[in-house]
Amino acid sequence: MINSGIEAKKIRLIMKLRRSGIVDTNVMAAIERIPREAFVPETFIDQAYEDMALPIGRGQTISQPLVVGMMTQALELNDRIKVLEIGTGSGYQAAILAKLSRRVYSIERHKHLLEIAEKRLEELKIRNITVKAADGMLGWEEQAPFDRIIVTAASQGEPPRALLKQLAIGGILIIPMGHRKSEQFIYKIVRTENSFEAKKLIPVRFVPLLPNIANDEDEDIMPMLSELSDETNIR
Ligand code: SAH
Repeated sequence: MINSGIEAKKIRLIMKLRRSGIVDTNVMAAIERIPREAFVPETFIDQAYEDMALPIGRGQTISQPLVVGMMTQALELNDRIKVLEIGTGSGYQAAILAKLSRRVYSIERHKHLLEIAEKRLEELKIRNITVKAADGMLGWEEQAPFDRIIVTAASQGEPPRALLKQLAIGGILIIPMGHRKSEQFIYKIVRTENSFEAKKLIPVRFVPLLPNIANDEDEDIMPMLSELSDETNIR
């Protein structure tokens, strides 16, 4: 079999994720079914089932599988739920969300990355995702409220106000926060009738959540794996 190497690596990764605390069987099934190799640049296909973040261009990364699993599990999804994702990136996290919820809205500030992600999702025939190129810090007013919101880039201070406003009562927001990389954690924020309750989950390293749409003119060169920083990894 041509793909036997990648299949063996995939099985090893799945086992590692289970041992590391991804206990939700629906989340595990979604990770098994979405081909991560379809979301990484060709140069990194061999590394697609390593438990690490990988470069996707424009200085951005596809998150580490364990982080994707942890964040997805914390969202407590089901097939009636409407999710907003900030930071489409490669589209991989969006594809996982799409398997576990009714509809996904996803926003990316890099038009170039979004175009590639859209093409992949189309090829995989994943149809319950709507995307737009915009500043996700402003949320998606026309589609609000959302039952769940997931931010896949680190907020420097408080969660963006628009996202708190667009979260339904009883809804969950999962967001990495922290000024410096050494102080970033994933937070789970639940909106109650009158307030928000925050819980700190795991230490992580994410690329920063940045305002406005990106100036996307520049072509960039894909970095080598050896030059890769440890973005989007559990610390
Ligand atoms: N969920 C992605 C991870 C991408 S990394 C995946 O599965 O591949 C984080 C992404 O967030 C980057 O693509 C970055 O461009 C994007 N981003 C950062 N700030 C943003 C903002 N304000 N609005 C929308 N996207 C943003």
